Amino acid sequence: METWNQREQARLMEIRQVRNELSIDAYGLVLKGQQIVILQPLWGRAIEVAHLRHQRVEEMKKRLKTGSWFPGMDTEVESQVERCNTCVAESKEQDTALPNTEGNPSASWSRVSLNLCRLPNEQLAAILIDNYSKFPVIETLWSTSFQDIGTALEKDFPLIGIPNELDFDNKPPLHGHALRDYLTSLGVVYCQIAVTVGHQKG
Ligand SMILES: [Zn+2]
Repeated sequence: METWNQREQARLMEIRQVRNELSIDAYGLVLKGQQIVILQPLWGRAIEVAHLRHQRVEEMKKRLKTGSWFPGMDTEVESQVERCNTCVAESKEQDTALPNTEGNPSASWSRVSLNLCRLPNEQLAAILIDNYSKFPVIETLWSTSFQDIGTALEKDFPLIGIPNELDFDNKPPLHGHALRDYLTSLGVVYCQIAVTVGHQKG
């Protein structure tokens, strides 16, 4: 196991290696080539967001490096994945990959369920559940209007990625055409079925 000092030294080495690629743009952002250099207080948040889909280590690294960089990024991703039970279980399953069957998603956040419910504190919420890992993402809502539900989805989709398929209840307020049109415009295949979520009221 690496000590804190070893980790810091490795970071310094990495910065040294890329020093010729570093610059500051007109807005004062530090860049490494085209990538934004993320400052230390935001490293944890960046890893958290990249980790939301519990993808393989290489995919997480690729996702992060698309537009950003910080020293020690690879090591941070690796240790995040090692600490996560879902990632560990998923990589074991992928190693003994079974053929995908309908309704049995092969990857995190490829098929999700949307439901509306009241949280125990009476707050209205939209819950997106990854059908693969059963991991929920919860957004509180002001109302059940499509506008509010759409706003919640627009907050979540950049984090979890646009799913291939989305299941939702064929009941008001989710039965309207606005949601179906919105999903179609994103290329999401929707399936209106009965979705059940815990802590649901009345
Ligand atoms: Zn994970």
